[in-house]
Amino acid sequence: QTFRELGVIDSLCEACDSLGYSTPTPIQANCIPVALQGRDVIGLAETGSGKTAAFTIPLLQALMENPQPYHSLILAPTRELAQQIAQTVEALGAVISVRCTLLIGGVDMIPQAISLGKKPHVIVATPGRLLDHLENTKGFSLRHLKYLVLDEADRLLDLDFGPILDKLLRLLPSRKTYLFSATMSSKVESLQRASLSNPVKISV
Ligand code: AMP
Repeated sequence: QTFRELGVIDSLCEACDSLGYSTPTPIQANCIPVALQGRDVIGLAETGSGKTAAFTIPLLQALMENPQPYHSLILAPTRELAQQIAQTVEALGAVISVRCTLLIGGVDMIPQAISLGKKPHVIVATPGRLLDHLENTKGFSLRHLKYLVLDEADRLLDLDFGPILDKLLRLLPSRKTYLFSATMSSKVESLQRASLSNPVKISV
Protein backbone atom coordinates (compact mmCIF):
# COMPACT_ATOMS: atom_id res chain seq x y z
CA GLN A 1 0.00 0.00 0.00
CA THR A 2 1.13 3.56 -0.68
CA PHE A 3 0.30 6.92 0.89
CA ARG A 4 -1.30 7.91 -2.42
CA GLU A 5 -3.70 4.96 -2.15
CA LEU A 6 -4.74 6.26 1.28
CA GLY A 7 -5.87 9.51 -0.36
CA VAL A 8 -2.81 11.60 0.48
CA ILE A 9 -2.15 14.43 -1.99
CA ASP A 10 0.98 14.40 -4.17
CA SER A 11 2.97 17.08 -2.34
CA LEU A 12 2.58 15.27 0.99
CA CYS A 13 3.39 11.90 -0.63
CA GLU A 14 6.62 13.49 -1.83
CA ALA A 15 7.30 14.77 1.69
CA CYS A 16 6.84 11.21 3.04
CA ASP A 17 9.20 9.91 0.37
CA SER A 18 11.84 12.45 1.23
CA LEU A 19 11.67 11.44 4.91
CA GLY A 20 12.09 7.80 3.93
CA TYR A 21 8.51 6.82 4.73
CA SER A 22 8.11 4.43 1.80
CA THR A 23 5.15 2.40 3.14
CA PRO A 24 2.49 3.55 5.61
CA THR A 25 2.70 1.94 9.05
CA PRO A 26 -0.46 0.13 10.29
CA ILE A 27 -1.68 3.11 12.35
CA GLN A 28 -1.14 5.39 9.33
CA ALA A 29 -2.89 2.98 6.93
CA ASN A 30 -5.90 2.81 9.25
CA CYS A 31 -6.12 6.41 10.45
CA ILE A 32 -5.35 8.50 7.40
CA PRO A 33 -8.31 7.47 5.17
CA VAL A 34 -10.81 7.83 8.04
CA ALA A 35 -9.39 11.20 9.06
CA LEU A 36 -9.44 12.41 5.45
CA GLN A 37 -13.16 11.58 5.37
CA GLY A 38 -13.57 14.15 8.12
CA ARG A 39 -14.19 11.84 11.05
CA ASP A 40 -12.89 12.28 14.58
CA VAL A 41 -10.40 9.55 15.42
CA ILE A 42 -9.28 7.71 18.54
CA GLY A 43 -5.95 6.00 17.88
CA LEU A 44 -4.67 3.44 20.31
CA ALA A 45 -0.99 3.32 19.48
CA GLU A 46 2.38 3.49 21.15
CA THR A 47 5.33 5.72 20.43
CA GLY A 48 7.28 4.18 17.56
CA SER A 49 4.13 3.21 15.64
CA GLY A 50 4.30 6.23 13.35
CA LYS A 51 1.35 7.91 15.10
CA THR A 52 2.80 11.41 14.68
CA ALA A 53 2.58 11.25 10.88
CA ALA A 54 -0.80 9.48 11.20
CA PHE A 55 -2.34 12.65 12.65
CA THR A 56 -0.05 15.22 11.01
CA ILE A 57 -0.71 14.18 7.39
CA PRO A 58 -4.53 14.59 7.55
CA LEU A 59 -4.35 17.94 9.29
CA LEU A 60 -1.76 19.27 6.83
CA GLN A 61 -3.93 18.09 3.94
CA ALA A 62 -6.93 19.90 5.46
CA LEU A 63 -4.78 22.98 5.97
CA MET A 64 -3.79 22.99 2.29
CA GLU A 65 -7.44 23.00 1.30
CA ASN A 66 -8.22 25.87 3.66
CA PRO A 67 -5.05 27.73 4.68
CA GLN A 68 -5.58 29.99 7.68
CA PRO A 69 -3.76 31.09 10.83
CA TYR A 70 -4.17 28.96 13.98
CA HIS A 71 -5.69 26.13 11.95
CA SER A 72 -4.47 23.24 14.10
CA LEU A 73 -3.43 22.66 17.69
CA ILE A 74 -1.47 19.62 18.87
CA LEU A 75 -1.24 19.10 22.64
CA ALA A 76 1.43 16.84 24.13
CA PRO A 77 2.28 15.96 27.74
CA THR A 78 6.00 16.80 27.71
CA ARG A 79 8.32 19.39 26.23
CA GLU A 80 10.43 16.71 24.55
CA LEU A 81 7.45 15.11 22.84
CA ALA A 82 6.12 18.52 21.75
CA GLN A 83 9.53 19.31 20.23
CA GLN A 84 9.59 16.02 18.32
CA ILE A 85 6.06 16.58 16.99
CA ALA A 86 6.95 20.12 15.87
CA GLN A 87 9.95 18.71 13.98
CA THR A 88 7.70 16.22 12.19
CA VAL A 89 5.15 18.94 11.34
CA GLU A 90 7.93 21.11 9.93
CA ALA A 91 9.52 18.25 8.01
CA LEU A 92 6.26 17.04 6.45
CA GLY A 93 4.91 20.58 6.02
CA ALA A 94 7.98 22.15 4.40
CA VAL A 95 6.68 21.36 0.90
CA ILE A 96 3.59 23.43 1.62
CA SER A 97 5.40 26.18 3.59
CA VAL A 98 3.69 25.46 6.87
CA ARG A 99 4.37 27.84 9.74
CA CYS A 100 4.52 26.04 13.08
CA THR A 101 4.97 27.49 16.58
CA LEU A 102 6.16 25.47 19.57
CA LEU A 103 4.79 26.57 22.97
CA ILE A 104 6.49 24.78 25.85
CA GLY A 105 7.38 25.70 29.41
CA GLY A 106 10.82 26.37 30.78
CA VAL A 107 11.73 28.96 28.16
CA ASP A 108 11.00 32.68 27.73
CA MET A 109 7.43 33.49 26.64
CA ILE A 110 8.33 36.55 24.58
CA PRO A 111 9.90 34.80 21.56
CA GLN A 112 6.91 32.45 21.57
CA ALA A 113 4.53 35.45 21.62
CA ILE A 114 6.44 36.96 18.68
CA SER A 115 6.17 33.67 16.80
CA LEU A 116 2.39 33.61 17.50
CA GLY A 117 2.17 37.13 16.09
CA LYS A 118 3.35 35.73 12.74
CA LYS A 119 0.10 33.76 12.60
CA PRO A 120 1.34 30.16 12.43
CA HIS A 121 -0.88 27.52 10.86
CA VAL A 122 -0.03 24.86 13.43
CA ILE A 123 0.66 25.20 17.16
CA VAL A 124 2.33 22.39 19.09
CA ALA A 125 2.09 22.93 22.82
CA THR A 126 2.17 21.61 26.33
CA PRO A 127 -1.10 22.52 28.10
CA GLY A 128 0.14 24.90 30.81
CA ARG A 129 2.15 27.13 28.50
CA LEU A 130 -0.65 27.24 25.93
CA LEU A 131 -3.12 28.41 28.57
CA ASP A 132 -0.62 31.02 29.73
CA HIS A 133 -0.45 32.45 26.18
CA LEU A 134 -4.21 32.32 25.71
CA GLU A 135 -4.60 34.36 28.89
CA ASN A 136 -1.68 36.76 28.42
CA THR A 137 -0.62 37.11 24.77
CA LYS A 138 -2.55 39.93 23.13
CA GLY A 139 -4.27 39.12 19.88
CA PHE A 140 -3.91 35.35 20.26
CA SER A 141 -7.02 33.23 20.33
CA LEU A 142 -8.09 29.84 19.03
CA ARG A 143 -11.56 31.01 17.98
CA HIS A 144 -11.04 29.77 14.43
CA LEU A 145 -9.33 26.45 15.25
CA LYS A 146 -10.23 23.62 12.85
CA TYR A 147 -8.25 20.64 14.22
CA LEU A 148 -7.26 19.54 17.72
CA VAL A 149 -4.90 16.64 18.47
CA LEU A 150 -4.56 15.25 21.99
CA ASP A 151 -1.38 13.16 21.83
CA GLU A 152 -0.52 10.63 24.54
CA ALA A 153 -3.81 11.44 26.24
CA ASP A 154 -3.17 8.88 28.99
CA ARG A 155 0.02 10.70 29.96
CA LEU A 156 -1.66 14.11 29.66
CA LEU A 157 -4.12 12.93 32.29
CA ASP A 158 -1.52 11.12 34.47
CA LEU A 159 0.45 14.34 34.65
CA ASP A 160 -2.62 16.02 36.13
CA PHE A 161 -3.30 18.26 33.18
CA GLY A 162 -7.01 17.36 33.57
CA PRO A 163 -8.17 20.70 35.02
CA ILE A 164 -6.08 22.68 32.49
CA LEU A 165 -7.47 20.56 29.64
CA ASP A 166 -11.03 21.24 30.83
CA LYS A 167 -10.29 24.95 30.83
CA LEU A 168 -8.66 24.79 27.36
CA LEU A 169 -11.50 22.77 25.84
CA ARG A 170 -13.95 25.45 26.95
CA LEU A 171 -11.93 28.02 24.95
CA LEU A 172 -12.05 26.00 21.72
CA PRO A 173 -14.72 26.14 19.03
CA SER A 174 -16.34 23.10 17.50
CA ARG A 175 -13.63 21.39 15.41
CA LYS A 176 -12.30 17.99 14.35
CA THR A 177 -10.43 16.13 17.07
CA TYR A 178 -7.93 13.25 17.07
CA LEU A 179 -7.09 11.58 20.37
CA PHE A 180 -4.09 9.26 20.62
CA SER A 181 -3.28 7.15 23.64
CA ALA A 182 -1.26 4.03 24.42
CA THR A 183 -3.95 2.88 26.86
CA MET A 184 -7.66 3.43 27.37
CA SER A 185 -8.49 4.29 30.99
CA SER A 186 -11.71 5.64 32.49
CA LYS A 187 -10.08 9.08 32.60
CA VAL A 188 -9.20 8.87 28.89
CA GLU A 189 -12.76 7.76 28.15
CA SER A 190 -14.21 10.77 29.91
CA LEU A 191 -11.81 13.09 28.06
CA GLN A 192 -12.92 11.38 24.86
CA ARG A 193 -16.59 12.01 25.67
CA ALA A 194 -15.84 15.66 26.45
CA SER A 195 -13.79 16.35 23.33
CA LEU A 196 -14.69 14.05 20.42
CA SER A 197 -17.81 13.66 18.36
CA ASN A 198 -18.84 10.22 17.06
CA PRO A 199 -15.21 9.07 16.71
CA VAL A 200 -13.85 6.08 14.81
CA LYS A 201 -11.68 3.96 17.10
CA ILE A 202 -8.49 2.50 15.62
CA SER A 203 -6.30 0.10 17.49
CA VAL A 204 -3.05 -1.39 16.16
P1 AMP B 1 6.25 8.03 16.09
O1 AMP B 1 5.54 6.79 16.54
O2 AMP B 1 5.35 9.01 15.45
O3 AMP B 1 7.06 8.63 17.21
O4 AMP B 1 7.29 7.61 14.93
C1 AMP B 1 8.34 6.73 15.16
C2 AMP B 1 9.43 6.80 14.08
O5 AMP B 1 8.99 6.20 12.88
C3 AMP B 1 9.84 8.20 13.72
O6 AMP B 1 11.25 8.26 13.74
C4 AMP B 1 9.34 8.41 12.30
O7 AMP B 1 10.21 9.23 11.56
C5 AMP B 1 9.30 7.01 11.74
N1 AMP B 1 8.23 6.78 10.75
C6 AMP B 1 6.96 7.26 10.81
N2 AMP B 1 6.24 6.80 9.76
C7 AMP B 1 7.05 6.01 9.03
C8 AMP B 1 6.87 5.25 7.83
N3 AMP B 1 5.70 5.21 7.18
N4 AMP B 1 7.93 4.57 7.36
C9 AMP B 1 9.11 4.60 8.02
N5 AMP B 1 9.37 5.30 9.15
C10 AMP B 1 8.34 6.00 9.67
